[in-house]
Amino acid sequence: MVLHRAYRFRMEPTQAQNEALLRMAGARRWVWNWGLARRKEVYAATGKGLSYQQQAAELTALKKQPATAWLREADSQLLQQALQDLDRAFKAFFERRAGYPRFKSKKKDQPCFPQRVKVEGSKVYIPKVGWVAIRQSQPIDCPVKGATFKRDTQGHWYVTLTAGFEMPDAPLPPADPARVVGIDLGLKEFAVLSDGTHIAPPKFYRKGLSKLRRAQRALSRKQQGSKNREKARKHLNRIHAKVRNQRQDWLHKLTTGLVQKYDGLCIENLNLKGMARTNEYRHRRAAGAASLLSKSVLDAALGEFRRQLEYKTVWHRKHLAVIDRYFPSSKLCSECGTLYTGLTLSDRVWTCGCGAVHDRDLNAARNIRAEGIHKIPVAVGHPETQNAWGGDIRPAQGRPSPSNQESHGL
Ligand SMILES: [Zn+2]
Repeated sequence: MVLHRAYRFRMEPTQAQNEALLRMAGARRWVWNWGLARRKEVYAATGKGLSYQQQAAELTALKKQPATAWLREADSQLLQQALQDLDRAFKAFFERRAGYPRFKSKKKDQPCFPQRVKVEGSKVYIPKVGWVAIRQSQPIDCPVKGATFKRDTQGHWYVTLTAGFEMPDAPLPPADPARVVGIDLGLKEFAVLSDGTHIAPPKFYRKGLSKLRRAQRALSRKQQGSKNREKARKHLNRIHAKVRNQRQDWLHKLTTGLVQKYDGLCIENLNLKGMARTNEYRHRRAAGAASLLSKSVLDAALGEFRRQLEYKTVWHRKHLAVIDRYFPSSKLCSECGTLYTGLTLSDRVWTCGCGAVHDRDLNAARNIRAEGIHKIPVAVGHPETQNAWGGDIRPAQGRPSPSNQESHGL
């Protein structure tokens, strides 16, 4: 089975390359818009459409005319591709899968040049542009099949490389129970692991968020339609982009590290967790906990965390167990298994009847691990053959991990 994965890198074109990229995107957009206008024209005059072949022939003729000879400077495949894309857009329209194709504006355009793009070292080769430096934040370990280029609102270029990789059909190797971890996601700590590791939200992130709030307030004070409002909006966009990039960067490092370190990762289903967190958020906000991240921001980060864990566990051939949404991870004693119904949202530390003193989040992480490990085939003959309160751990089985099936169905 071949799976696809995408790598996204910021490009660092020189001034000349930047201009070449802009010209390229411009030429592609021009051909799309010209092709669309021609189709409309011909349809209005004759009641018939144009085929891709007819349009490609017209484009060749166009290149010979002095006024449009500049098209010869652009990569010819790129221009043909614009016409192919247009043809596909019309087919989708006729099959009622999409609306009528529209003219492309500079703002909404997404140039893509999937052919003849090569990657070597920290450079990507683009026909007619040359070797452009990229900030290669991770190694590319499968053959590159195509590339999409995008310019963000800040004028930075990004390349998304699509690569195909062969996924072995063999079942996943069983996990070493010592390398299975439970992860409790929360409010104050971003995550607490069952081995006691605390992962705090990064400081710069919080700083970025307070900048974001300030920029939002500044924008709301500016008059509608004024130049200053436009400026404030741009400023806000810039901060948004920065915070998003920092978040992604931090999350990628975190999830890659986790997937490399552990064979099996157990997390809670975030939907219900999210509801519990909403209540806890209100509760703690009311109690004056000033250091809390805003809930929407936290949810976005947690959703992204889970998304990354899901695909990275597949790539790295590791197990991901998503545990049942009604599992009371906070209220169970991870020592004796007793349910402590008296637990309130403000209890950060509690004592069980058995005498165990629990840190709320660490206890939850341990319970999540104990529950999740049931879904993960573990190596037989390992000293740890029972979970925290005496239940048997299922031995390895000759089939793919149910945890992965579950997580990808969600
Ligand atoms: Zn207990």
